[in-house]
Amino acid sequence: MYFEKDIVKEGNQILKNVSERVSLPLSSADLACARGLTEYMVVSEVDELVKKYKIKPGVGLAAPQVGCNKRMFAMNCNDFLDENNTKYMYTWINPQIIAKSKEMVYLPDGEGCLSVDRDTHGLVTPRHLKIKVKGAILDYKTNKLKNVTMTLFGYPAIVFQHEYDHLDGILYTDKMFPKEEVNAEPLYTLADDEDDE
Ligand code: ZN
Repeated sequence: MYFEKDIVKEGNQILKNVSERVSLPLSSADLACARGLTEYMVVSEVDELVKKYKIKPGVGLAAPQVGCNKRMFAMNCNDFLDENNTKYMYTWINPQIIAKSKEMVYLPDGEGCLSVDRDTHGLVTPRHLKIKVKGAILDYKTNKLKNVTMTLFGYPAIVFQHEYDHLDGILYTDKMFPKEEVNAEPLYTLADDEDDE
């Protein structure tokens, strides 16, 4: 498990390096890192645990953000479920983006990052609306890897691209623009707050 003190912050060279592919089978150090990233995502979902461990909750955490320049990250679009109730929680090892839509989107309120403590409100980062990705995902229970290919659309696609950029030494702040200058549509789906009660 990683804590706030373990998170590498903006300005550190580690976040600017292009990370290396992970050698397979996973070494025990790489497995420990992958599991730690996963645990951070699990804890992020539970308010009591967030308070207990004094972490900032997040929807993604990449290995470079905990000081490891290896190509792996965990994502958990915790509140987001698509129409098939898919919960986009994965820990990726050596992910690749193999296709990208021409259509671009951005989060209307901008992105955030566990490595960026300053306020970047009012600026947005354009992303591909749809991407096709492949790589290995970690099964947290068995520590086994499974090769997968999947298409991500909308919010999960944005989260994946944000985390993937970390593996290439890029922060969302490197790609930020004022909304007016961006040739992309806002992703409104996130604002649909449906309450059944
Ligand atoms: Zn980030």
